[in-house]
Amino acid sequence: MPEPLFRRLALIGIGLIGSSVARIAKQRGDLAGEVVVTARTAKTLARVRELGFADRIETDAGRAVQGADGVMLCAPVGAFADIAMAIAPHLMPGAVLTDVGSTKQSAIRDIGPLVPAGVHFVPAHPVAGTEYSGPDSGFTTLFEGRWALLTPPPGTDESAVAKMEEFWRRCGSMVQRMEPGHHDRVLAVVSHLPHLIAFTICGTADDLEGETRQEVLQFAASGFRDFTRIAASDPVMWRDIFLNNREALLEMLARFVEDAQAMSRAVRWGDAGYIEDKVERGRKIRRSLIELKQA
Ligand code: NAP
Repeated sequence: MPEPLFRRLALIGIGLIGSSVARIAKQRGDLAGEVVVTARTAKTLARVRELGFADRIETDAGRAVQGADGVMLCAPVGAFADIAMAIAPHLMPGAVLTDVGSTKQSAIRDIGPLVPAGVHFVPAHPVAGTEYSGPDSGFTTLFEGRWALLTPPPGTDESAVAKMEEFWRRCGSMVQRMEPGHHDRVLAVVSHLPHLIAFTICGTADDLEGETRQEVLQFAASGFRDFTRIAASDPVMWRDIFLNNREALLEMLARFVEDAQAMSRAVRWGDAGYIEDKVERGRKIRRSLIELKQA
């Protein structure tokens, strides 16, 4: 077996993503010699103890990172600034500090200025997930065949970036580097806007008057059902993503609203060609996703 990439890896936050990483580390043995875990609440840490995938559990983030050569922030992006402030004085020189946050410009804005000299910050985003959260929800195949996007600012230590690329490859991911602003615009379209639409459509259905609302739930066709799956995601995580990718999300939403208005006009005026064309484009996108094995 190859040497573990990290002698000691500290995971700050242990929900879907953190606990998947911890489970993979335990199963493979070549990610980290020791996995130290911390979270916000005693309840989560008690559950982590029962689940048994952590070598050590710490209630304090500062203590958790002491002596760790790898530190990964796996909490909601809105908590990054406070966590960075709490751990900065305890980070070991030479350590790699990374994160899994869904918005990269905000991660660099909130963590970057607090990183002590000699610590290498490599922002990353494993583009893999489910609608479930918490330490029970993680699993070892979560990242298989999924992209891990790394957004190191210019000047980041190359060997630290290469180490994190190897880390995500060992987790089963395909790896790509991306400019952080570009990452946020791409993710606004492929992830953040679809979630916004799903939360909104569920709200629309929920606002309907009594009898109709009941029927929406009773006869939920696959279209609505698929939206409810997306809308079942964690409220804190999504609040933080929307507020930390504000500009890109608002830009993509404005484009979407324009396109939805064009579709509404086509329906009003009976423009069959326009409608067919849009549906055909949707089918093509779905077919390409299946071919790329990302469906
Ligand atoms: P999750 O299941 O909701 O777990 C979040 C974890 O963060 C919990 O262990 C929570 O602890 C902990 N936490 C919250 N505030 C904290 C703080 N101030 N200090 C320390 N720990 C704190 O979340 P997740 O789905 O794993 O997402 C984690 C990160 O990955 C987020 O930044 C998210 O944007 C990103 N991400 C998510 C997905 C996805 O689909 N879920 C995909 C890619 C990336 P308690 O349980 O004690 O509150």
